[in-house]
Formats: sequence, structure tokens, C-alpha cells
Amino acid sequence: MKLISSIDAEVSTALKGDAGRLRQIISNLIGNAIKFTPEGSITLHVCKDSEDADSATLRFLVRDSGIGIAADKLEQIFAPFTQADSSTTRRYGGTGLGLAICRQLVALMGGRIGVESEEDVGSTFWFTVKMEKQRGNAVAAPKQIPAPGSNDYMHSGNGIRILLTEDEPRARNIVPKLLKNYGYQVDVAGDGKEALRALEKEDYDLVLMDCMMPEMSGYEVTAVIRNPSSAVRRHDIPVIALTGNAMKQDRDRCIAAGMDDHLSKPLLLPDLLGKLEKWLKRERHQTREEAVLLPPESHFKL
Ligand code: ADP
Repeated sequence: MKLISSIDAEVSTALKGDAGRLRQIISNLIGNAIKFTPEGSITLHVCKDSEDADSATLRFLVRDSGIGIAADKLEQIFAPFTQADSSTTRRYGGTGLGLAICRQLVALMGGRIGVESEEDVGSTFWFTVKMEKQRGNAVAAPKQIPAPGSNDYMHSGNGIRILLTEDEPRARNIVPKLLKNYGYQVDVAGDGKEALRALEKEDYDLVLMDCMMPEMSGYEVTAVIRNPSSAVRRHDIPVIALTGNAMKQDRDRCIAAGMDDHLSKPLLLPDLLGKLEKWLKRERHQTREEAVLLPPESHFKL
């Protein structure tokens, strides 16, 4: 069984949506697709349906190559406690509630849900959701990642020094290499103490800070950076937190600890480049106080 996902390049990540509800709908539809597909593949695809000045409507499609649904049952399966055929419960279990819940959640978000299916060929469940565009200074993640070394990023990364504080070997290896392609110079500190020593010795432009490190957490390191009597060179250096959590309270915790922004792992290159652009640009054109007053943003990610 293959599980494939793809997102159209024109789908912006700078949209505000209800990540919890979306996750529930998508996992329900994928759960069903897995349940009713003995062999073959399942695809999740996201594309843009329409767009106006303030919002974009996205379309999510979950396609399977499973048992399919008879044409005369297609309408009913979204009703509570309904299954396409009475032997379904015996064969596959289930309550007949999943799709009814999906329909309600989609309606709550101002969207529509539907299905196209052919017996023994497969089904495509789709739904649409209208999402608000990020406003003001929120920087949309680049829609297409420019090739390494292309003008856009080469220009912004040129000569800029970043300190990556990270204990995880994979990220320590990959992030500097990736960012080097875009003109950034990245040094790595393996733990909090090493990061502080580096910040006392060298002039950096920005810190990428893993929050969950043994001994000294990213929150504690940031507290030392922000403490005016500590020996680090720049107490106002932008600090972007890297966490394994995408919850809003984690983002709030990072901001409360004195960090400027937040990226959740696994890191996506367009998001990372977007955040660097945003904070390095802000550094050049704005004071820190102004930057902090801007409303928090909530990037939606799959
Ligand atoms: P449950 O799966 O718990 O029975 P759902 O509301 O999620 O309840 O689904 C209702 C019915 O719709 C299922 O019992 C099944 O008959 C049909 N169905 C849902 N998804 C699929 C799918 N991907 N392929 C074939 N039939 C499906």
C-alpha cells in the first residue's frame, strides 16, 4: 500500500485555518481510504479552488484505489449511522459516523464535502475550506523555492551569520548545508552552553534555537541572551525557536520566553527561508519594539 501526498505550488502557507478540525477531517478520510483499500494507493492532494483579496479556498482530495461505493449509495453515506452496504460493519467494522462528523466540521468552516466513486475502481473524497489570508507584515512562504544561488535568496543570505543551536545530529548536518546554498553562513552549537559561548565571542545576525535540549533548554538559553547583564554581544538578536510541537500554546511559550518566532519540526525549507527573510529584513528596517507589537501569526501546515 502506497500513501502519497502532494500540495500544488500555488497553495500559499500564509493562511489562517483551524488546524485541529482540518487534521480531524483529513485523518478520517485517510483512515476510511486505508480501511476500504485492500491494495493499491491512497493520495492526498491539496490545490487552490479560488481566491479573493482576503481569503483563499483550498480543495483537499483523498483518492483511493479501493472497493468503491455504489452510485445509489453515494448520497447516503454522509448521513449519521449510514454505511454503503449492510455487510460493511461485519467486514470492516465502523459506526457510520465518521463522514457525518466530517460533513459537520466542513460546514462549520464554510466549505463543502463530496465524493466521486466507482465500484471496484476507487473513491475520491474531496472537501473545500475557505481560509483567511495573512495580512500586513506576515510574509508568505515563497510559493516556489528559488533555485539555490538565484538572485532572491543569494542577495538576502549574503554574508549573514546564523547560529544554529541544535543537539539532533540530522538537523545539525542538513540545515547548515541547505542554508549555505542560499548564501547564509551557519555555525552550529551542540548545546545551550556552547551557544552562549559562541554568542559571547562572535557577532551573529540571528539564532535558530532548538527548544528541547538536554541540560539547558532553548528557553533558558534565550533568557540568558535577553538578560542585559549577560556577556552575549547582542541581547536583541532575533531568536527563532525550533520545536517539535505545532500547538499554539507552544508558540506562545516561545514568545513568552523572549524568542521572536517559532518554526515547528520537521522544518520545511520554504518556511525556514521565509522566516529568515522576515526577521533579517525586520532587523534592518525596524526596531525590535515595533516588531514585537505585530500580531502573532498562525501558519497552517499539513
Ligand atoms: P464507518 O467507516 O465508521 O462505517 P463513515 O461515516 O466513515 O463510517 O463511512 C460510512 C460508509 O461510507 C462506510 O461504512 C463505507 O460503506 C463508506 N465509505 C467511506 N469511505 C469509503 C471509501 N474510501 N471507500 C469505500 N467506501 C467508503
